[in-house]
Amino acid sequence: ESARHDGKRFIEYDDSQQQVMRQRYHMLDELRKALQAEALSIALQPKVDIVTGAAVGFEALVRWQQDDGSMTPPSEFIPVAEAAGLISELDLFVLKKTLEAAHQLIQAGLRLPISFNTSSNDLLRPGYFDEMLKMVTASGLPFNLLELEVTETQAMIEYQHIATQLRKLLQLGMKVSIDDFGTGYSSLAHITELAASTLKIDQTFVARLGQSEGANHIIEMIMRLSDRFGFHVVAEGVETEQQRQLLIAKGCVVCQGYLFAKPMPVAQALEWAQHHILNP
Ligand code: C2E
Ligand code: MG
Ligand code: MG
Ligand code: MG
Repeated sequence: ESARHDGKRFIEYDDSQQQVMRQRYHMLDELRKALQAEALSIALQPKVDIVTGAAVGFEALVRWQQDDGSMTPPSEFIPVAEAAGLISELDLFVLKKTLEAAHQLIQAGLRLPISFNTSSNDLLRPGYFDEMLKMVTASGLPFNLLELEVTETQAMIEYQHIATQLRKLLQLGMKVSIDDFGTGYSSLAHITELAASTLKIDQTFVARLGQSEGANHIIEMIMRLSDRFGFHVVAEGVETEQQRQLLIAKGCVVCQGYLFAKPMPVAQALEWAQHHILNP
């Protein structure tokens, strides 16, 4: 009886696994088509001065709108693109859109840097780095208006290879952020080798600020390390006034979060920035 029961459960499990696989293949297929049709877009989220709320930069985030108007979140399709080897193509498309937006910002008289996300897979794949650099150079944009974000997760595996590329970018005057800092594999031993200008405090720590002593200590430690080793810091996912106050008290000067602004379509972000420029 119980064996039959287990057998049945096993078959059900197998079916649902197959369904997940089918859904992934379908998504991959749709994503390939969307890339081909240039149907993906970017949203820009402001990075702001935590005290004044003034714009200090933007982050470009990929957006995938379906025919029915619904949005598929990056957390669903980025891992699929990474697993299928489609991520570099996606990231280079996002870079193209980012470079266009950077030109629009300059035309609007706004000299604000824009960051774009890269998967660490990109930096481990031959060809991506040269192609990225070629596109940036061809854009004619000043390197210091562009910033590459790479998540700390996995970035420390084969880090030397990645770091060599990131150092080259830093030498060219581009900025480099370690995204989701504090959640990945880096150890204290690595901190002096980090090829980065900025550490982005992961939003899970910010979310627990004021509620968890652990999160408080971790953020304080990141602030102190950054000060000691010369990194800028951006706090991600700031949603409440209490979080803002606590971050200010810890010496954080730049943040990103719904409290200030959500990611917006490029035109709307330009409009937003016009009203959030600190008057000299
Ligand atoms: P990320 O680079 O750490 O980006 C921050 C994410 O947090 C974004 O989610 C943003 O919309 C969201 N966020 C911003 N402020 C708040 C807040 O106050 N509260 C909360 N709860 N969330 C906030 P999004 O756009 O869904 O992107 C998720 C992740 O997907 C990104 O995390 C990044 O790792 C990845 N991603 C996005 N665009 C790209 C891309 O073009 N290429 C690659 N490789 N990855 C991307
Ligand atoms: Mg990012
Ligand atoms: Mg992040
Ligand atoms: Mg992330």
